[in-house]
Amino acid sequence: MIEKSSIDDLAIFGGPSAFALPKSTSNLLQPDFDRFMAYSDLFLQAQQYTDGGPAVQLLERRLADFHQAADCVTFCSGFWALALTIAALAFPGKSEIIMPSLTYRRMPDIAAWIKLKPHFCEVEPSTLAVSAETVAPHINADTALILAPHPIVNNCDVAGLLCLAEERNVPLLFDSVESVYEATADGKVGGLGHAEAFSLHACKLLNGYGGGYVTTRDVNLARQLRALRRYGMDESGRAIFPDGMNASLNEMHAAMALASLDDVEQQVQRNRERYYTYRRGLVSLPGIRLLEFDDSHATGYKNIVVELLDDWPLSRDETIRILNAENALVRAYYSPPLHQKPMEFAYVPTQLPVTDQLAERFMNLPCGHLISNQDIERIVDLLAFIAAKWAPIRARLDAQGAA
Ligand SMILES: *Cc1c(COP(=O)(O)O)cnc(C)c1O
Repeated sequence: MIEKSSIDDLAIFGGPSAFALPKSTSNLLQPDFDRFMAYSDLFLQAQQYTDGGPAVQLLERRLADFHQAADCVTFCSGFWALALTIAALAFPGKSEIIMPSLTYRRMPDIAAWIKLKPHFCEVEPSTLAVSAETVAPHINADTALILAPHPIVNNCDVAGLLCLAEERNVPLLFDSVESVYEATADGKVGGLGHAEAFSLHACKLLNGYGGGYVTTRDVNLARQLRALRRYGMDESGRAIFPDGMNASLNEMHAAMALASLDDVEQQVQRNRERYYTYRRGLVSLPGIRLLEFDDSHATGYKNIVVELLDDWPLSRDETIRILNAENALVRAYYSPPLHQKPMEFAYVPTQLPVTDQLAERFMNLPCGHLISNQDIERIVDLLAFIAAKWAPIRARLDAQGAA
C-alpha cells in the first residue's frame, strides 16, 4: 500500500487510491471449477438443460438436507422465489404486505409484481431485525402476509414471529437470503418457517451465477410453487394455476450452486478469519462498533457491518465517500430506508423514527471471497488514518463544499 502520511495522499483529495482494483461487499465465490464441470456432466449426459433436469433435482435434495427442511423448490432468482411464494401464501383479497423499511432495496418491487402494497415497519435497534413487537402494531384487516427478512448479521427472533403469525392468523414468509448458513436454538434456518426464501446470486454465500430457492415443509405449497415456476402447469403439462411464470432454475446454474454448496464449510472458515481480522483491527478504534456475530449457533460470518458512533468525527456518508475514492467499495447499510424513497407504487405511509435514525449510522465493509486479510488491514488502516486526521479532513471537505 502506498502509505498515507498527509491528507493530500487521500484519493478524494487527489492522491493515489489505496487499492488498484475495487474491493466490494459482494461475496463472488469461485468454487472448484472441476466440480462445476463434473456436475455439469449430469445434464450434458442427460441432454436436459432446464425444467427440473438432473442437476436441479440433485440440488433441491441437497439443499433440503442442508437446511433440514422437508422440500426445496428452486427458481431463476431470489426475486421470483419470493414473488411466487408471496403469491401462493398471501390471503386472497387482502392488499397489504408488512415488511421492514430497513431492508433489501428491491422488496417493494416484489410486492408490486404481486399487486400488494408494502406496509413498512420498524426494526429492533439492537439487532436491526423485525420482531413480533415491531410487526404487531401494523397487522390489520387488510394484511395479506408478513415478510420477515433476516438482517445481514445474525437472525430475527424466529420463534417470536412464528408465534405472532399463528396468534393473529396471518401468513408469514421468511426472507432467509442473508442467513443461509445460520442456525438458532430451534434448528437450522430454512427448516424453521412454513416457507423461507433464498438467493443464489453471485453476491451471496452460495453462488449459482444467479438463482433462488424456497424451503418448506408444506407439500401442497411445494407442488404449487413447482407449477407456478413453470407456466402454472403440473408435471403432465396440465394448467393447474393461473399467473404462472417461466421462472425455473436452469441446469448450468444448478451445477454451479452444487459446486458452491460443496465449498460452503471452507468458505465459512475463510469468512470467519476475515471477520476476526476486522475485529482485531477495529477494537482499538474509538467511534466504530463492529456488529458481532452470535456464534453460539452456526453462523456464516459473511457480512461486515459497522456502526459509526456519536464520537466518530465525520458523517457516515462522508466516510463512505473517502473510502470509495480509495476503491474500497464501502456501502451505506440499506440507506435510504424504503419508506423514505420516492416510489412509483402504492404503499401504506408510516412514520418510522427509529428506522430514520438507524439508517444514518451503519455501513457495510468489503468482504467475501476476493478480500484478503491484507486488504482488511489496509481498510482498518484507512479508517484509523481518517480518525487521526479528522480535523484537516473536515476543513478540506468544508472548503470543497463551499467552493
Ligand atoms: C439479494 C437479495 C434478494 C434477491 O435475490 P436475487 O437472487 O438477487 O433476486 C432478496 N432478499 C434479500 C435480503 C437479498 O439480499
